[in-house]
Amino acid sequence: KKNPIPKPKWMKESIPGGSKYAKIKSKLRELKLHTVCEEARCPNLGECWSGGETGTATATIMILGDTCTRGCRFCNVKTSRTPPPPDPNEPSNVAEAIASWGLDYVVITSVDRDDLPDQGSGHFTETVQKLKMLKPSMLIEALVPDFRGDPGCVEKVSKSGLDVFAHNIETVEELQREVRDHRANFKQSIEVLKMAKQYAPAGTLTKTSIMLGCGETPEQVLKTMEKVRGAGVDVMTFGQYMRPSKRHMPVSEYITPEAFEKYRVIGMDMGFRYVASGPMVRSSYKAGEFYIKSMID
Ligand code: SF4
Ligand code: SF4
Repeated sequence: KKNPIPKPKWMKESIPGGSKYAKIKSKLRELKLHTVCEEARCPNLGECWSGGETGTATATIMILGDTCTRGCRFCNVKTSRTPPPPDPNEPSNVAEAIASWGLDYVVITSVDRDDLPDQGSGHFTETVQKLKMLKPSMLIEALVPDFRGDPGCVEKVSKSGLDVFAHNIETVEELQREVRDHRANFKQSIEVLKMAKQYAPAGTLTKTSIMLGCGETPEQVLKTMEKVRGAGVDVMTFGQYMRPSKRHMPVSEYITPEAFEKYRVIGMDMGFRYVASGPMVRSSYKAGEFYIKSMID
């Protein structure tokens, strides 16, 4: 089945650039570090890696392998019930590589690992701890799975020393079943974000993201935003859903840049610390720059 809606002109991809970008990239080759930014050919790479107005360079790294135990309808990651076991040296290797890379803000994320007894939470915790030890000035966001709502897993990661605990609810409450794997749901994800806020030291931010254009109504978006804010979440981001292939869920609608901007303004009024909202926004979009700016304001 073909995607019936043509891409509007605002979905054009930008070209990476900037001097900080070039420096980071050459170092990356030496370190053999793989970023989501490059592997997903993210159009924001130039903006994120150059650090923008605050010079806070952001990149996203994936740990725990490339194979997910879940299968969400929007996601291009390969899936298996039994992915290979995690590499026990990964936390040290990744921490060393990131620390020497010249980044200011790193988003560490992973596939879901329902096959592991601790859902991968120990691996996350170790990676964050090692990285903070090597480079205390590094700002770290962990973008984590729901850990099946396990409080022990959430507590461990929340107390690892991270700066931002992120977990994506992906879509409005009403469309969870259509969009996400059947093991994920709105209530569980909101609980995870609430628990993280309770367990994490004061000053740690919590963050979540949704994709628009999955068939949600503006009313559903607003209601979801209220519930997210009600759970004490500090940061919310909005981006356009883009279908990775014809096997994936079709795009229902391309949301206009004006509508994205409206959600940003409404979100700021609701009391979010910052809101990133736009057609090309991903949850990690310029996260370092926005983090620093929100601390200054
Ligand atoms: Fe990387 Fe995320 Fe920025 Fe894309 S939006 S370049 S994945 S940090
Ligand atoms: Fe993709 Fe995450 Fe869903 Fe796994 S859980 S299929 S990585 S979105």
